[in-house]
Amino acid sequence: MNKAIKCTGITKYFYQARKNEKSTWNIFEKFKKGERIRVLNGITFNVRKGEIYGILGPNGSGKSTLIRIISTLLLPDEGEVTVYGLNVVTDCYKVRHLINRVSVEAAFFKKLTVMENILFSARLYGMEAGKALKKAAEILKDLDFSEDKINESVEDLSRGQQQKVAIARALLTEPKLLLLDEPTTGLDPKAKKEVQKFILGKIKNQNVTVILTTHDMEEADKLCDRIAIIKDGHFIAEDTPEGLKRKSGENKSDISLEDVFLQLTEEVAA
Ligand code: ADP
Ligand code: MG
Repeated sequence: MNKAIKCTGITKYFYQARKNEKSTWNIFEKFKKGERIRVLNGITFNVRKGEIYGILGPNGSGKSTLIRIISTLLLPDEGEVTVYGLNVVTDCYKVRHLINRVSVEAAFFKKLTVMENILFSARLYGMEAGKALKKAAEILKDLDFSEDKINESVEDLSRGQQQKVAIARALLTEPKLLLLDEPTTGLDPKAKKEVQKFILGKIKNQNVTVILTTHDMEEADKLCDRIAIIKDGHFIAEDTPEGLKRKSGENKSDISLEDVFLQLTEEVAA
């Protein structure tokens, strides 16, 4: 079986307070009054082992919700996802050993140092401290993270440096599936390039399967083997970057992925 992810008919609803509604602390009251919104609508796709699969879409289109479902943090209302053949709902503990996630705002113990944060995570996974630190140091070196910052509090690091620590932490456990939810959003151009180089070099070479969301079309073009475009909880296109450009209907040879993205997302709105 060469499928890393098999996602079939995933649908997710959220309850959202109606506009101008008085807020309430009573969660049942809130649910009763709230509006049931469908944020994912029958999402179906497969990802092959070792593939870098991009999910592009406007803000609020459902990317992070889909990633949370794949990473067992949220339950789908309909449909099924398997990760390396394991169901994310019924086999969630086994799935958690195969995956790791880096989100746009990585959660840390901000007052603790980089090393302490790495060690905490290693403990959770039952890794030996010395081995974890050695591995983290190797990854951080590959990401061009200066060694002398390892004893600084995470809150004193820049966004770019924090994101590098989040990536090192996620890779500590050698996940077979890495979920990268906007890993380069808000990074300066240098840090962004270093993270992209790392994904394309080290991660790709280790045959880790990656799902990547990004708003940077050039990044998606460069890194992704295939790309899905999501709008209002629907996949509206899926292909290789070249395939998407070819299918866009324009005969221009220099059409960019950004042109294709704007064309597709605007078309569907019309
Ligand atoms: P994206 O990552 O593409 O920006 P999200 O998956 O974060 O989109 O959000 C999709 C939609 O679901 C948005 O309308 C968002 O407001 C809504 N949403 C996300 N999480 C929740 C939640 N926990 N409760 C209610 N609504 C949510
Ligand atoms: Mg998001």
